[in-house]
Formats: sequence, C-alpha cells, structure tokens
Amino acid sequence: VKLNGDHLKLAIQKDGRLTEDTRNLLRTVGLQFDAYKQRLFSNCRNFPMDILFVRDDDIPEYVAEGVVDLGIVGRNLMVEAEKNVQELMPLNYGQCTLMVAVPADSGISDVKQLAGCKVATSYPNSTQRFFAERDIPVNVIPISGSVEITPALGVAAAIVDLVSTGSSLKLNDLVAIDTVLESQSIIIANPNSLSNTHKSSIIERLLTRFRGVLSAAE
Ligand code: ATP
Ligand code: ZN
Repeated sequence: VKLNGDHLKLAIQKDGRLTEDTRNLLRTVGLQFDAYKQRLFSNCRNFPMDILFVRDDDIPEYVAEGVVDLGIVGRNLMVEAEKNVQELMPLNYGQCTLMVAVPADSGISDVKQLAGCKVATSYPNSTQRFFAERDIPVNVIPISGSVEITPALGVAAAIVDLVSTGSSLKLNDLVAIDTVLESQSIIIANPNSLSNTHKSSIIERLLTRFRGVLSAAE
C-alpha cells in the first residue's frame, strides 16, 4: 500500500470519539477501505482517495499545510487552530458545546464576574477570544487534560471545556454559565485543493454522496 499522488487525501481521527461515526459515514456513502489497528493510511478501493489515520489535534494543521486535502474533525479544533482551512459541511455527529463552567457553590452566574480570575482550558485561543470580545480581563491557564478538576485543585476559578451530556461537570460539582462555541464533526478542506480543477471535482463527488446520506437521515 502506498499513497497515490493523483488521489485525494483525507485525514480522520485514528482512535477516539469521532472515529467510529466517521468510518461509518465513509462506509455508508459507499467507500471501501481497510482500517485495522496500527494502520497509518488506507487506499479506497472504489474511489480516488487515500485515508490517513491521525490524532485529531493534528488534522487542522495537516489540512492547512496541504499534507492532506480534506479532514474530518470537531469544529472546536478547527476554530482553536486558527489555520487557513475551509469548512465544507457539518456531518451531524460529535455534537458538543465548549462552555464556561464554575463551581456550583461559587456564587458566580455571569462571565463578567470572572474579571481578574484564572480560567483553565485546553482551548486557550478560543477562550482568549471569548473573554477579549467581552472586554473581560482573565488569566487563561492552558491545561492539556482533566480540566474539570482544576477548580477543586485551586488552579483556576473557572474552566472552559467541552460538554456533551454534562455528566462530567456534575461529577465535579461544576455548572455551565455561558457558551463559547457549538460544535459537531465537520469536513474541512485546504483552499488550494478547492481551486484545483481535478481535486475539486473529486471533492464535489464526495460531498454529493455525503449530502445524500445526511439529508436521508433527517
Ligand atoms: P486524539 O487521541 O485523536 O487526540 P482526543 O482524546 O483529543 O483524541 P476525543 O476525546 O476523542 O479527542 O474527542 C474528539 C472530538 O470529539 C472532540 O474534539 C469533540 O469535537 C468531540 N466530542 C464530542 N463530545 C465530546 C465530549 N463530551 N468531550 C470531548 N470531546 C467531545
Ligand atoms: Zn486530540
């Protein structure tokens, strides 16, 4: 197996929350490919596209740099990366919300009350922008994981984190007080790939198939 230069390249998450739904979507639109463990990429047998399996955090960068033409990733990561990529279509799974949350007993109910406070998050760019747009000065503390325990540890007064069911917030005695971003899985493209006649026609064929499946699901 090797990458084919004429083929479109699509990056998807190797192993995580979006992986199963992404593979299912690709199979539902008729693409045939292998995806067993340890595999870094796979050629589609019946479509001129190769699929790369990577960490989701790397997808916006790979798409922006043209390492791949397309990527499927949470909108939260595309927005956070602040790269030159284009969102083509929402894919109707991986729904979650980037939210500001505080300890339930903090007495804080409005983000304005966080002026001068520390806010821990794995989304420092999105968090910085949210508070700057509201002229609320905060000290953003970048944390790579388990952000929801930082208020209890005294690291921060508030967090900005992804919420889907809310059970993780509840477990840590936190309550959401505001929304930074509504997210779901999306397909993104490199702008140069979109202006390439050959590539853009394959991308359009793929999107047509996605549209068919997504509208049937509504
Ligand atoms: P990787 O190993 O690829 O870096 P990860 O652990 O960073 O994976 P996952 O937890 O698999 O990432 O989440 C992937 C995406 O799933 C998120 O970026 C987000 O778009 C979406 N998602 C949906 N619900 C949630 C949730 N409750 N918490 C976190 N992410 C969620
Ligand atoms: Zn990740």
